[in-house]
Amino acid sequence: MSYEAVIGLEVHAQLLTRSKLFCACSAEFGAPPNTHTCPVCMALPGVLPVPNRRAVEFAIRAGLASGCRIAPTSRWARKNYFYPDLPKAYQISQYEAPICVGGTIRFLLDTEEKRVRLTRIHLEEDAGKNIHDAHADSSLVDLNRAGVPLLEIVSEPDLRSPAEAAAYLRSLRSILQYLEVCDGNMEEGSFRCDANISVRPAGSSELGTRAEVKNMNSFRSVERALEYEIERQIEVVSGGGRVVQETRLWDADREATRSMRSKEFAHDYRYFPDPDLPPLVVDEAWIESVRASLPELPFERRERFVRVLGLPAYDAEVLTARRDVADYYEAALRRHPDPKAVGNWVMDAVLRIVREKKLDQRLRIEKWPVAPEHLAALVALIDAGTISGKIAKTVFDEMVTSGSPPDVIVAERGLVQVTDAASIGAAVDQVLAANPDKVAEYRAGKEKLFGFFVGQVMRATEGKANPKQVNELLRQKLGG
Ligand SMILES: [Zn+2]
Repeated sequence: MSYEAVIGLEVHAQLLTRSKLFCACSAEFGAPPNTHTCPVCMALPGVLPVPNRRAVEFAIRAGLASGCRIAPTSRWARKNYFYPDLPKAYQISQYEAPICVGGTIRFLLDTEEKRVRLTRIHLEEDAGKNIHDAHADSSLVDLNRAGVPLLEIVSEPDLRSPAEAAAYLRSLRSILQYLEVCDGNMEEGSFRCDANISVRPAGSSELGTRAEVKNMNSFRSVERALEYEIERQIEVVSGGGRVVQETRLWDADREATRSMRSKEFAHDYRYFPDPDLPPLVVDEAWIESVRASLPELPFERRERFVRVLGLPAYDAEVLTARRDVADYYEAALRRHPDPKAVGNWVMDAVLRIVREKKLDQRLRIEKWPVAPEHLAALVALIDAGTISGKIAKTVFDEMVTSGSPPDVIVAERGLVQVTDAASIGAAVDQVLAANPDKVAEYRAGKEKLFGFFVGQVMRATEGKANPKQVNELLRQKLGG
C-alpha cells in the first residue's frame, strides 16, 4: 500500500519591534542575561501589561499580506503552564479570538505555483530561556526574551511533502522580511517552526493520528526531520501499529526524532481571557492605513519580473526572494536595461559573494560586494565588446576587492578586448607555427584539437582576444 503525508506547520516569528509586547524593555537579541527586564516581564506582583501598538500593527501587516481577515475585535488569553523560564506561570497569547483569520500563502515548488491555506495568525509573548550547561550543578534563567512579541502563523494541513513544507516556509519568511516585521533568522530563533505530521493511505480523505515535531532550526533540518518522521510513521502503520499522539524532538546530530512528551491538548492549558487586558479593537481606518503602506510583495514582484522583464520563472524567483536583492537588481537595471544579462550577474557573481561573506544574515544587506551602478557598467562593457565575458570575471573579482568601477580596472590593467584582426591573426599564426605536429593531426581529421588551438591563442593574448574572431581566424587558417 502507498501512503501520503499530511503536514501542517506552526511558525513563530519574532517581531522586529524595539520593545517587548507588554512592557518598554528592549526586545533586542544578544544582550547580557537579565539586562532587558522590568517588573512587568519578571512578573512581580501588582504589575499590569500594556500592549505594544507597533506589534499589533505588524500583525495586521502580516495578515493583510497573507489575505487574512483582520478581526475588528480580538482577545488576549492566558495560556497556563509552569516552567522556570515563565515567571507568571502563564503566557499571554490569543486563543478563541485571534487577530487574523484565514488567508493563503502562495509559493513556487520547481516553478509550479502552490497554495497553502492559513488557519490563523495571532500575537503572543515569548518565554525566557533556561540555560542548563553553564554550571555543573545548577540551571540558570535569562528573562531577556520573556515578553518579546511573536506572531504565530498556523497553516491548514495542506502540505504533502517535506519539499513543499520547506518551499512554503521560504515563501512565508520572504513575505515577513519584505514587510520588515521579522528578520527571519532561523539560527537565532527569530523564525521557528513546529510541524504536525500524519500519514494515511494514498487517496484517503481521513486524517491519521499526528505527531508534532519541534527543534528544527534550518530549512534543511525541517526537510530532514519531516522525511525521517514520515518514514517512521509509515513503518509503524504498515507494521500494523498505531502512531502515538505526542511531541517529538528533532536531533540533528543523530538525524532522528525522539519522543519528548505526550501531546498536550488545548484544555491542558486552561485558556481563559486575560482579565488584565481589554479586548483588542482594530478600527477600519487603521486597517486601511496599514494596507496602503504595504510594499509590493514577493509573489507580485516575481510575476512582474516574468511579465514585464521577460525573465524565466526560476530567475524571477531567485531575484525576488529577498527585497534588498530585488531592489539591487532593479537599481542595476536602471543603468543598463538588459534584464537577463544583469540578472545572471546578480545571481551568479553577486549572490555568490553575498553567501560566502554571509552578508545575508540580517534583514538588510548593508554592504554589497559591488555597487549596483558598477555592476551595470560591467555588463555594459561586455555588451559593447570592450571586454570578453571571461575577462569580466577577473574584473568583477577586482571590483570586489578594490571597490573601483570596472572601466578604471580595465584601463589600469590593460584588459581591453583585442578585436583587431591583424593582431589576432598574428597570434594565430604564431600558435600554428609553434605546433606543426598538432596542425598536421588536425588536418588529418582529429577535429577535437580545435579547442586546443583556441586555448593557445587565448593564452597568447592573455585572454583578451575576442573569442568569436579567434574561432573564425583559426578555421580560415587551418582550412577547416
Ligand atoms: Zn520588561
